[in-house]
Amino acid sequence: MAVVDRKSRIAIVGGGLVGSLAGCFFAKRGHSVSIYEYRADIRVEDYRGQSIDLALSIRGREALRAVGLEEVLIDRHGIAMRGRMIHKKDGTLNEIIYDSVKGNLIYSVSRRYLNAVLLNAAEKYPDVSLHFNKKVVNADLDSGKLKILDTKTETIEEAEADLIIGADGAYSTIRRTMAKKPLFNCSQTYIEHGYVELFVPVGKNNEYAMSGEHLHIWPREEFMMIALPNDDHTFTGNIFAPFATLDKLKTPQQLLNFYEEQFPDLLELIGREKLVNDYFERKPKTLISIKCKPYHYGKTTLIVGDAAHAMVPFYGQGMNAGFEDILLLDDLMERYDSDFSKILPKFTELRCDDTHAICDLAMYNYVEMRDLVTRKSFLLRRHLDTFLHSQIPNTWIPLYNTVHFSRMKFRDCIANREWQDKILRRTAWCTVFLIIALMMAPVIEVYTTKGVLY
Ligand code: FAD
Repeated sequence: MAVVDRKSRIAIVGGGLVGSLAGCFFAKRGHSVSIYEYRADIRVEDYRGQSIDLALSIRGREALRAVGLEEVLIDRHGIAMRGRMIHKKDGTLNEIIYDSVKGNLIYSVSRRYLNAVLLNAAEKYPDVSLHFNKKVVNADLDSGKLKILDTKTETIEEAEADLIIGADGAYSTIRRTMAKKPLFNCSQTYIEHGYVELFVPVGKNNEYAMSGEHLHIWPREEFMMIALPNDDHTFTGNIFAPFATLDKLKTPQQLLNFYEEQFPDLLELIGREKLVNDYFERKPKTLISIKCKPYHYGKTTLIVGDAAHAMVPFYGQGMNAGFEDILLLDDLMERYDSDFSKILPKFTELRCDDTHAICDLAMYNYVEMRDLVTRKSFLLRRHLDTFLHSQIPNTWIPLYNTVHFSRMKFRDCIANREWQDKILRRTAWCTVFLIIALMMAPVIEVYTTKGVLY
């Protein structure tokens, strides 16, 4: 790895998952890094933000491995999930293994723990400084000057950097500033569904109340519940539903009636009182998807993670893709010897189409999770994919596996699936023609022997 001769001053806006990881990568190459984070230090202050559990798969793991953190997270804290467990209304279960051929797993990790590990790792580098309660309110992208509000003292400070990294999440200030520049395109989409976080307590004998090796899903077509295991034997769940449905759950009784009808097994596990308390403690949150291009401005500014490509959470790839951004950035730093005038445009060129593709896939997967997983056609296709994958593992890789268990470019994951659909469609048509031909064979024989056709 090339450590730079000429140190650059890197200002990272946002000390969340992607910002703190980026700090480690820049520091490793010898740059001087300042991370400005709006919130207080989550390692010392109580914090409840977005969902507390995240599914970590290969793209995220590779990035963590590169800074020596994979083992800490996976071996000591990650909960291995080997598949989805589908819960029907009548209480029957159906297990869908993620990868029965190669045995790949997805890990449930705590957001707070992961963020704390990354901040600790960044802080260990001598030239990294972390600044909490600092909100970047203004950025001059040409000069690299930042105006920063200290939220405790309510005073404005200034800082200057050679490179500004916008890792400030879905509602990014840096992206908003870039949007004022020419040729910057950006679209945002709120879906009509929101979510509320709920918790399943420990079961009997301090064990998990359900299997601790699965991501649990209660698909109900228009809405769904999911739950991921925590290492203290609880589960963190989310109900995802149209706001029109959530708005109808105004009183404890309405909520309990809804759960009794839709998720009776879960209601038993959560308990009526806990469900009511947890549900009404917070308001349903919105879900947004952002697509923009380019990701850079000149040689001074780059946006990464949710700031560049927030997505709905249904493929469990938001953080994974954000971590992969940093891997790509690091590859480019190696290739172009930390010359940001070459790195930043190349990053846009290589990354935009892929992250737009995963935003689309994440939208698609919501329909799969809440509806398709219960359909016979989906299960048949899943079996077929698994069978073909077991026979020709390097040629036939199902879409889910390419997204979660490979570093295939996201746009190629879609192209690969389209190719598979084409093959299956053609095979199906050929089979139909063959059957018709076999059925017609006796008739044709009668006609020809009677000389009707000649
Ligand atoms: P964030 O985590 O949002 O961090 C941005 C940081 O910037 C924050 O700390 C914020 O305080 C700070 N900030 C914002 N503005 C400023 C400012 N002006 N100045 C200074 N600091 C600022 N992804 C997965 O890979 N797997 C999953 O299973 C998964 N599940 C999810 C479930 C839900 C319900 C949701 C909502 C998301 C899920 N995601 C998942 C997506 C994942 O949470 C995000 O992709 C990830 O958090 C993005 O990290 P980030 O660092 O880019 O942004």
